[in-house]
Amino acid sequence: MEDFKKNLEVIEENICNACKKAGRSRDEVTLIAVSKTKPVEDLQAVYDLNIRDFGENKVQELKDKIEVMPKDMKWHMIGHLQRNKVKYIIGKVELIHSVDSLRLAEEISKQAKKNNVNADILIEVNIGDEESKFGISTDEVIELVKDIAKLENISIKGLMCVAPYVVDSEENRPLFHKIKDLSVDIMSENIDNVSMSILSMGMSNDYQVAIEEGATMVRIGSNLFGKRDYSKN
Ligand SMILES: *Cc1c(COP(=O)(O)O)cnc(C)c1O
Repeated sequence: MEDFKKNLEVIEENICNACKKAGRSRDEVTLIAVSKTKPVEDLQAVYDLNIRDFGENKVQELKDKIEVMPKDMKWHMIGHLQRNKVKYIIGKVELIHSVDSLRLAEEISKQAKKNNVNADILIEVNIGDEESKFGISTDEVIELVKDIAKLENISIKGLMCVAPYVVDSEENRPLFHKIKDLSVDIMSENIDNVSMSILSMGMSNDYQVAIEEGATMVRIGSNLFGKRDYSKN
């Protein structure tokens, strides 16, 4: 059995240290507990430690968990989202981190309008890593942001990226820096209905570096919940 309390204490201390190092305040950074593949008992244990933000990457699993977990949990869709599944999560999630096309944004806008809600989203940026299939390339981001900004019932709140797995987290520093720079560029365009207040970057392996480079949301799974076992799914 994982000691969630101990894990959380270590993570919290690391977040505080990274904030201090970067001259930032601790409350600028939100910890998202990435609970994919984990049973609801584990989520409840972490909820009981006062964590409210949870990240999932599959629509079905997200739906199932939302139904049984406490109503004040804030759910983050962090995985690739298919257009035909948007309808299942609209109005139920705090933030969709993984929008990387106009067609997906159009479906989110349509479903949000239908449900009379507003959907907050991030643009997932592919930071030039050949392995990652998702995310829009950096040189196409501004155009996509401008197009999505025109849609109704959808608001861009910032950028998200999935950095490659590296042994030395310092290797990802330039990538995080690039995303921060990109967000500043987008801000300077002063596009209506677009904010760049959220930068969702950094995972178990590299969240301290991500925070030093400006992350406002870190998505932490294995360091909190323990290793994931995919053999059972
Ligand atoms: C699984 C996942 C995470 C968490 O990864 P860990 O390395 O276990 O912390 C973060 N972001 C996304 C998009 C994920 O799919």
